[in-house]
Amino acid sequence: MSRRPRLENFRRIVVKVGSSLLIDSDAGEVRASWLQALAADIAKLHNGGSDLLIVSSGSIALGRSRLKLPRGPLKLEESQAAAAVGQIALARIWSEVLDDHGIGAGQILVTLQDTEERRRYLNARSTIAKLLEWRAVPVINENDTVATNEIRYGDNDRLAARVATMASADLLVLLSDIDGLYDAPPAQNPNARLIPVVDTVTSEIEAVAGDAASELSRGGMRTKIEAAKIATTGGTHMLIASGKIEHPLQAIADGGRCTWFLTPANPVTARKRWIAGSLEPKGTLTIDAGAVNALRAGKSLLPAGVIRVDGQFARGDAVVVRGPDTREIGRGLVAYDAEDAERIKGRSSPDVMSILGISGRSEMIHRDDLVVGPQGPETAK
Ligand code: GLU
Repeated sequence: MSRRPRLENFRRIVVKVGSSLLIDSDAGEVRASWLQALAADIAKLHNGGSDLLIVSSGSIALGRSRLKLPRGPLKLEESQAAAAVGQIALARIWSEVLDDHGIGAGQILVTLQDTEERRRYLNARSTIAKLLEWRAVPVINENDTVATNEIRYGDNDRLAARVATMASADLLVLLSDIDGLYDAPPAQNPNARLIPVVDTVTSEIEAVAGDAASELSRGGMRTKIEAAKIATTGGTHMLIASGKIEHPLQAIADGGRCTWFLTPANPVTARKRWIAGSLEPKGTLTIDAGAVNALRAGKSLLPAGVIRVDGQFARGDAVVVRGPDTREIGRGLVAYDAEDAERIKGRSSPDVMSILGISGRSEMIHRDDLVVGPQGPETAK
């Protein structure tokens, strides 16, 4: 039996479309017939009962051509102003191509802050839920005109993964200019083979992706793997497929080439999905092998298991948890600020009480605030 899931069986699908697919780089205009074909694929899945969401890039590229800006790199404020012009056009184009199928489109522009801050995240999530309930298709992009360097996603691969977990989607499709992840850079190595299914994003997979950074477009394979980690840890399957062909979603449904990144079947709570997707962890806790086993068995992280504390974080901030070999084990919301964490690391619970002069719970990260990533095969480092 094939291990490939079937596209039409997914209940909620996020489709990410990059600028290089949507905009013809010579003409600077939208590739209309390609987009119409994609919209037809989207409508087919939508009419089959699935919820569809689109994460679309293209505002800067489109704005640039509408404003007839010269080629060459743009300064930050120039890209932001170009995005302001391009985003209006982009929203209109999506609205029209979906309207051809009787589907309403709703524009949502988000910044990193909107998804990192829980209250804003919940707000965006309920807007998306309402649109889907009304059978509209949310069309989402980063709010490029206001996102400053510090609060930028910067690439829509990670934004799409964040949106997918936020919307509790069960599938994220990254349409790319390459048809999947290869075991070597395909442009340089004719023997490079496509990897059809990735069960776990291991350090080997990350290394392969680093080498295969063959794409010209923003993002590249590295950010796609980053997206795969966010998606699969948050309970969403992901796939990378070529968007260079007409009807790219139909091609996947027909068994076309692509790379699937599978999520383990365990349901993930909404809160944990948010934690798993945090893009700006404020610090790192390195833990010993015993604590790694405890975490994988579903326990909380106790101060005794922490061997190293890095970063400036406050109580409640997201931190990355790494094993003794520096491999990421998971992410969580830490119960102490960095200074206290440093004081109590490696200490038993009664010690912690006397060091901090408090009584009560002493977990460094409570299990409810902790997301442990899928466990890959052990690798010698
Ligand atoms: N938000 C950017 C745009 O619409 C694109 C970012 C990306 O493609 O990753 O132009």
